[in-house]
Amino acid sequence: MNHHLFTKFRIGQSDQCPCQTGSMTTEHLLQTCPRHDGVRSQIWAEATTVQGKLYGSLDDLQRTATFARRTGVSI
Ligand SMILES: [Zn+2]
Repeated sequence: MNHHLFTKFRIGQSDQCPCQTGSMTTEHLLQTCPRHDGVRSQIWAEATTVQGKLYGSLDDLQRTATFARRTGVSI
């Protein structure tokens, strides 16, 4: 993802997300990015922590995988 590439390898112009509301981090994409509000609310009806989405139960991880597939982002 852009954030990794920029901070680790200095590739790309910026780690700013195209939504212009924050850096393109895993947490931003999963939790707050307005570009993915629709998909996010379909997958997680209740507020879920980023830790739960990345390190939770198998069900949580499957939801995260579905989110990544539908949004086309790499987590
Ligand atoms: Zn964003």
